[in-house]
Amino acid sequence: MNDSHPKLKSRRKFLQVAPVIGMSALGWTEGALAQDAILKDSDPEAAAIEYRTDAAQVDPSKHPKYVAGQNCSNCNIFYADTGAPTGACGIVFGKLVAATGWCTSYEKKPS
Ligand code: SF4
Repeated sequence: MNDSHPKLKSRRKFLQVAPVIGMSALGWTEGALAQDAILKDSDPEAAAIEYRTDAAQVDPSKHPKYVAGQNCSNCNIFYADTGAPTGACGIVFGKLVAATGWCTSYEKKPS
């Protein structure tokens, strides 16, 4: 095969375009999660885990497991950069949760 062979031209074109497509898809995913999809207290999936955006609003009489100071940012299944206001949760799919949030699946992050 020489340089002008159609298969080589096609492969070369794919290698030029693939990173652009990949970066676009990644950017869209991060953008969609970061800007559009933050779990709200009123969402059905929030109700299922009794999630509150503000852990200070958790009623300890209804949730005896709750201890003041617990929130998503110190939960073992919260994934975000340190100090980020929102992050991904291991049990909430497609939406971010607030670092200040809390739910009944809270699991203390090991120190
Ligand atoms: S499991 Fe942890 S990170 Fe996820 S919503 Fe509940 S408290 Fe927050």
